[in-house]
Amino acid sequence: MIGQWLILDLPLNDGYRAKEMPTSTDFIDISNVAGSVPHQLQVAVCVAPADSGLPILQQYFNVLYKTYGPQKWWPARTRFEIIVGAILTQNTSWRNVERAIRALRRERLLTLAAIAKISTERLATLIRSSGYFRQKARKLKAFVNFVREQYRGSLGRMFRTPTAALRPQLLAVHGIGPETADSVLLYAGNHRVFVVDAYTRRILGRHELAHTKSTYEELRRLAEKSLPFEVQGFNEFHALIVYVGKHFCRPRAPICSACPLNCFLVRPIEGAL
Ligand code: SF4
Repeated sequence: MIGQWLILDLPLNDGYRAKEMPTSTDFIDISNVAGSVPHQLQVAVCVAPADSGLPILQQYFNVLYKTYGPQKWWPARTRFEIIVGAILTQNTSWRNVERAIRALRRERLLTLAAIAKISTERLATLIRSSGYFRQKARKLKAFVNFVREQYRGSLGRMFRTPTAALRPQLLAVHGIGPETADSVLLYAGNHRVFVVDAYTRRILGRHELAHTKSTYEELRRLAEKSLPFEVQGFNEFHALIVYVGKHFCRPRAPICSACPLNCFLVRPIEGAL
């Protein structure tokens, strides 16, 4: 049990504002509450700070996991589809990526061999909805060439390479930065890595757990050292951070009053609802 929590189920619609939240004095134990309610945003208001003696990031994870349950990431049918999604999602919304992936699936192109064969121009046309489509077509091609040249076209062989050796190889591929490399390693390859994204930075920064100038590597090492998780824990934690980032921790006017992490705030965030 972590603190006392008030769980509210609110309709999720565009008109939602924190100030519309009903108030209540009924607190419940959230130990058995897991999973979010379909079509609703489950809101948990932490009313007593956690003090479990666990590493702080583990406390964050426990609170989020108990509130929202498993996120079932990454939403894809195959490892290759995960990799394609990780590359296409750079600088765009997931909705746009889904359209591009649907187009590739329609053309039966969601395999390494198929992407290797198709022309870069045709590939770019098919993934147009994901934005920066010419660049992304070149990135997909570069990744496929890398696997064919270094691992004889086998993702299985590639992912059997130890993380410490594979990560720098991925980072050397055109168009694969740290966030994409770590998403590929974690979600497609089941490697134990922590994915740092803009949401992670914002949340850790606002909670004064990281400096705004901290590098990607500093944040990744901080999380990987302090969290006693195996792969599944890192899988869920990143997905839960994305959930909080999307629904509460917006760039402007974060909805701290309804956010499950609000009891961990050191001080109020300026402009927060
Ligand atoms: S919305 Fe507020 S409480 Fe939630 S993570 Fe962001 S800063 Fe923290």
